[in-house]
Amino acid sequence: MRSMRETGIVYLVGAGPGDPDLITVRGLRCLQRAEVLIHDRLVAPELLDEAPSSALRIDVGKEAGHHRCAQEEINALLVRHAQAGRIVVRLKGGDPFVFGRGGEEALACAAAGVSWEVVPGVTSATSVPARAGIPVTHRGIATSFAVVTGHCLGDDRVDWEALARVDTLLILMGLSRLPAVVDQLLAHGRSLDTPAAVISRGTLPDERVVVTSLGSLAETVAREGLATPALVVVGEVVRLRAELNQYRWAIPPAQVVSRVPQVSEPRVMWTPAVAEQ
Ligand code: SAH
Repeated sequence: MRSMRETGIVYLVGAGPGDPDLITVRGLRCLQRAEVLIHDRLVAPELLDEAPSSALRIDVGKEAGHHRCAQEEINALLVRHAQAGRIVVRLKGGDPFVFGRGGEEALACAAAGVSWEVVPGVTSATSVPARAGIPVTHRGIATSFAVVTGHCLGDDRVDWEALARVDTLLILMGLSRLPAVVDQLLAHGRSLDTPAAVISRGTLPDERVVVTSLGSLAETVAREGLATPALVVVGEVVRLRAELNQYRWAIPPAQVVSRVPQVSEPRVMWTPAVAEQ
């Protein structure tokens, strides 16, 4: 790899939603070749350990409220290390191009004449509900889904009427602004009793799932004090969870089983999500 090029390269790698097993094969290969690893706060520590011990590790994680590193500084870091001839891996939660500002980092590389590649990741938008037993589409129940962020409130380009009509709505980064998002959906015709779920720390061992209705969503979130990151699912698909969970095989992260052990009667295996039902 190294001998093929004179300048460095930036790999924008999606780390997946949380469980370190959910990174892609290509993402892991890039990590294992990293000379500089620039990562977010949400990325699993197990993944950081995959980079060579000699790799320079830089945490540019953004904590809610205070940004440890401005986006322009991150862009400059990527460019600088690649221009020095290094293999730079920019590891980001989920998919780099889904509310991940990966596009901005790619543009910065392109503008500086730096080679870059995006390694798509498993986005939390669909995988976190999936692992909690909620498919985002389901024949006869939901044929469309949309992903929005709580930060879009106040942005004139958001068509709330259209969003209220989408079968399954996935709200990212939304907990603090949830009451206002719910108000918008209700004002645009979504009914109070639409099922809704909040999934906190999805795919991780301390995952929590709370099922409620759109009308009670804001109050439920305020009461439960759910940890971030958390994602909200609104739509009829949430109802499927109770039935799907009866046989859903969920295993502790970073372990793989080849065969489901014999059980005398149907029962739910390891799953903190179910405990919260
Ligand atoms: N690029 C990421 C999203 C970044 S925005 C992706 O594709 O997944 C960060 C938001 O994603 C969080 O505020 C939360 O709403 C959601 N999120 C990420 N990981 C999550 C997890 N493990 N459980 C629940 N929500 C998660």
